[in-house]
Amino acid sequence: MPSFPSAFRSARLCSLAVLLVPMLVLCASGPAAADQQRRIALTFDDAPRGAGPLFSGVVRTQRIVDHLDAGAVEGALFFVTTANLEREADGRARLVSYVEAGHRLANHSHSHPWLWKTGVDDYLADVDRASEVLATFDGVAPYFRYPYLDEGRTVARRDAVRAGLAERGLRNGHVTVDNYDWFMNALLAEAVRSGRAIDEAAWCSAYTSILIDGIEFYDRIARETLGRSPQHVLLLHENDLAALCLDDLIAALKDGGWAFVPAETAFGDPIAAWIPDTLFNGQGRVAALAAAAGQPLRTLVHESEDEAWLRRRFQSLGLLSEPTRSDAAGKP
Ligand SMILES: [Zn+2]
Repeated sequence: MPSFPSAFRSARLCSLAVLLVPMLVLCASGPAAADQQRRIALTFDDAPRGAGPLFSGVVRTQRIVDHLDAGAVEGALFFVTTANLEREADGRARLVSYVEAGHRLANHSHSHPWLWKTGVDDYLADVDRASEVLATFDGVAPYFRYPYLDEGRTVARRDAVRAGLAERGLRNGHVTVDNYDWFMNALLAEAVRSGRAIDEAAWCSAYTSILIDGIEFYDRIARETLGRSPQHVLLLHENDLAALCLDDLIAALKDGGWAFVPAETAFGDPIAAWIPDTLFNGQGRVAALAAAAGQPLRTLVHESEDEAWLRRRFQSLGLLSEPTRSDAAGKP
């Protein structure tokens, strides 16, 4: 586990930031306060996803809505991959359910392309196609989340798409906390396929503790880099583990002193306005800001963002039958 040792490091980073006016604003506006109420928003990518290992899409949506309601979590943001609507007969009604429950929708592209593999014009056309579909819904917020958090591997492509999104009035629906919830869900599917009985409490305990560790990891990097805890945006996927365990995750966050804010409130944090000049964007905005401030990249990825690490963890907990080679799930 990497460590970011000292106030000296924070001071050094903020001193570096004096050279960068936007960062100066970040540091000046954010005194470290031990008693600061930490805030976090929930976002769910790839909605509406198809049937999963435990739940149909309809049941999953109802469970997620119920968990959010029970936890008094308002203004969650569901990033829609609109091609999913062509495959899911109930998809449209499910998205409407989220909006009617007080949550919002936003653009996650039509076909979920990698930017580094896609030309700028084709990429933006795919964004436009999603926007056209979303225009038929109420409750759509003007945000775009890059599929795979991939903002490209060259400055030219990165900046061309950033400009194209700005022309369209779309803001980056950034995350501050990346994780591999998608791979944990793939491991759950693997366990179900193997015929193993699913100990729901144990799966949720593991899911929650791993996510909390990641949240604390990125909050620590934020405090060391910015001198404060920003309003966080947690990346989740609209998957069965969320539908199964969201109540546990919400409770654990509250126990840890976190308060929930609407996603669009969190996007009002000053870090949304500073676009880091880095190609290291795949771990979210906090990691990107730290990278731009000179932190070694290897220290900006939590250990749980690793398929082998997660497989070992779930095996050690007795939740997976045995090691397999079916490690082919792609990052959504
Ligand atoms: Zn996605």
